[in-house]
Amino acid sequence: MKSDLSKKEAQQEIETFFLNPKDKSSKEIKKIKRLAANKKISLKTERKKFCKYCFNPFSGKENVRIKNKVKSVECLNCKKVSRWRME
Ligand SMILES: [Zn+2]
Repeated sequence: MKSDLSKKEAQQEIETFFLNPKDKSSKEIKKIKRLAANKKISLKTERKKFCKYCFNPFSGKENVRIKNKVKSVECLNCKKVSRWRME
């Protein structure tokens, strides 16, 4: 991944990356997160596609709970629960 991407190119790269998040490794997700942070790009809904602790992509087989408008997903890899407030 080039480090001299423009913000627009980086945005594009991130969008393309998350079209198929399930094929990605935690290492690649860390990398794309770093790119987003460097370019000050918000991942928005994309950050819900992977575990915020171990960066493994969610497969869709996780235990998902919704309570008081908060969605919890238990990671199959590290068993930690990622939570997001629903909009
Ligand atoms: Zn995890």
